[in-house]
Amino acid sequence: MAIERTLSIIKPDATERNITGKINAMFEDAGLRIVAQRRIRLSREQAEAFYDVHKERSFFGELVDYMISGPVVAQVLEGENAVLAHRTVMGATNPAQADEGTVRKEFALNVQENSVHGSDSVENAAKEISFFFSDAEIVG
Ligand code: ADP
Ligand code: MG
Repeated sequence: MAIERTLSIIKPDATERNITGKINAMFEDAGLRIVAQRRIRLSREQAEAFYDVHKERSFFGELVDYMISGPVVAQVLEGENAVLAHRTVMGATNPAQADEGTVRKEFALNVQENSVHGSDSVENAAKEISFFFSDAEIVG
């Protein structure tokens, strides 16, 4: 089993409802360890750059508006197969399709305000982690 790191973001709908601890308890219970963490307010430029891969999607403008509507918690999670393990605990993008016991089933409001972001591959995780954190800020 490979020890990986993945980028996790607790999104504005969740910080607004004060459930960051409840969400992180689910990640920790799944064996993931928080090795870097920062609560920040994204600028429009940062949100657009982070979601650049989605810039042609119809929901891009709405997604950026939502991601800058309140604070987020950006964090690095570490563990065995962390990228897939984190995505599994997050659940499907649309909470209507998310499995029982997942963060999105439990907490997401709708397909956009879905409480959490997670990297979707080891390669993207490395890029997304370096978007928010320097090596010195990650303490395993
Ligand atoms: P995921 O976050 O599960 O990797 P995507 O990468 O496809 O999902 O989408 C990024 C984010 O864009 C989603 O988490 C959600 O906040 C938003 N989003 C995705 N699909 C839609 C949609 N159809 N309408 C509105 N927002 C969406
Ligand atoms: Mg994605």
